[in-house]
This record gives sequence, structure tokens and C-alpha cells, in this order.
Amino acid sequence: MSTTEQRVAIVTGAARGIGAATAMRLAEEGRAVAVLDLDEAACADTVERIRAAGGTALAVGCDVSDAARVDTAVARVAQELGPPVILVNNAGVLRDNLLFKMSESDWDTVLGVHLRGAFLMSRACQKHMVDAGFGRIVNLSSSSALGNRGQANYSAAKAGMQGFTKTLAIELGKFGVTANAVAPGFIATDMTAATAARVGMDFEEFQAAAASQIPVQRVGQPADVAHAVAFFTGEQAGFISGQVLYVAGGPLG
Ligand code: NAP
Repeated sequence: MSTTEQRVAIVTGAARGIGAATAMRLAEEGRAVAVLDLDEAACADTVERIRAAGGTALAVGCDVSDAARVDTAVARVAQELGPPVILVNNAGVLRDNLLFKMSESDWDTVLGVHLRGAFLMSRACQKHMVDAGFGRIVNLSSSSALGNRGQANYSAAKAGMQGFTKTLAIELGKFGVTANAVAPGFIATDMTAATAARVGMDFEEFQAAAASQIPVQRVGQPADVAHAVAFFTGEQAGFISGQVLYVAGGPLG
């Protein structure tokens, strides 16, 4: 494939938050972007913003934890936009609880969306990347991979994303495919707003408290994460693989 040809990216969980910012940033980088989320109608806003800026985007409804739907969604992207050779596994959910109160459903839901979802999406897309001799996979990990109270399920999933990423890097490198993980700290999105609500704090106060603990003295924005994803998915990033980049306003890891 010539580098002047438009490459196709899939961003999961792209209806809002980090995924929406990433989809818009990749479109700015010249990628045709499949905006994938649970509810296809919810993707309309991101798709319209990309198109209004002159980019190419397609809304795709899909539950990333459902193998049959993933295969159908990836085949649809390949048919309507072209072979997906950039994949950002961003879809996520929280089911926070202390271990003694955590249900099996809390565990299975979180592992199912983050880890099983990343596995299914990567498996479905890798054949297009191998055929193209080019691929970029970026998996969303988290600072919670290092351990976080009330998040046994989420921290296990996000640590798992790091091992998964390194293994993809080893297996797929010879096909021109890189795999890297971006591990955000506190990013202001609906997800962190929901956490604030759960602990009974005003979101502004919650962000101020978080910012005071962060070396750069502010919380992250979705665009901060999108910037890191754009770097890893760039044409010139072919020798950078199996890495975990903490995007947290200070050192972690
Ligand atoms: P968000 O605002 O909650 O957005 C997550 C998106 O994923 C939502 O649109 C959600 O759809 C979608 N989604 C959930 N389950 C899905 C499924 N089974 N299939 C397809 N899409 C699904 O979250 P965010 O803060 O942008 O986080 C994005 C990623 O970054 C997540 O992986 C998260 O764990 C990670 N992260 C976030 C932070 C942070 O501080 N915000 C920090 C570290 C890591 P619905 O709206 O329909 O549920």
C-alpha cells in the first residue's frame, strides 16, 4: 500500500470521551475513521464533527465483547471504508466495588469489555493488517493497572492489556504491525464524572483534588490521550512496539 493512500482506522468506544477525541485526531491525521460504539446512533455526533472538518468517518454499532458482532462490524468497515489497519481498543466500562462486595457480573463485565473486547477486535483486524504488511494497534490501559482500591476487576483488565499488547508486538512484528499501550491517569470524561458521583463529590472538586496530586497540576483531557495514540499510529512509528506509555502528567510505571 502506498503511504499516500488513506489508511482506515477503527476506534472503539468512540461515541464520547477519549475515544471521540482519538477518532477526531486520527481523522485530522488523514485517516478514514470507523467510529465504533455500542449504540450506532450515539456515534453520530463524532461522525458529524469529523465530516464537518472535511474528514471521512463511518458510524458502526457493535458490542466489542460479542465475537459474532465484532466479526460483522470489522467486515462492514473493510467493505465500506477499506481494510482496517489501525485499531484503537478504547471501549471501556467501570463496575467499581471493594472485593468483598464485587459480584461475578462486575468482574465478567469489565474483563469482557476491556480484555475480551480487545482480543476479539485485534483478532478480527489482524488479517487486514497482515495482508497490508502494515498495522498499528493501540490498547488503552490505565494507571489503575498499578493497583487501585475498589477496582480489582478494572486493574486486572488494564494490567492484562499491557501483557496482551506486548504479546501482539512479538507475534505481529514480522508483518509490519506494531502494538502499544497508552495508560492514562486522570482524564476528565463521563467515566471520571461517574466516579465522582459514586463517591458523592462534585466533579469540579473531584478534579481539583486529583490535579493537586499530579505533577503538572492539572487533570488530563481526552485530547492529551489522543495525541499519544496519534504518535503510536503514525507512519514513522514502525520501530516503536510493545511499549506502555503513561499519559498521566507525571511519572508512573
Ligand atoms: P467513557 O467516556 O465512559 O467512554 C467509553 C465508551 O465506551 C462509551 O461510549 C461506551 O458506550 C463505550 N463502550 C462501553 N462498553 C462497550 C462495548 N461493550 N462495546 C463498544 N463500546 C462500548 O470512557 P473514557 O473515560 O473516555 O475512557 C476510554 C478508555 O480509556 C477506557 O478504556 C478507559 O478504561 C480508559 N481510561 C480512562 C481514564 C479516565 O480517567 N477517563 C483513565 C485511564 C484509562 P456507552 O456510553 O453506551 O456505555
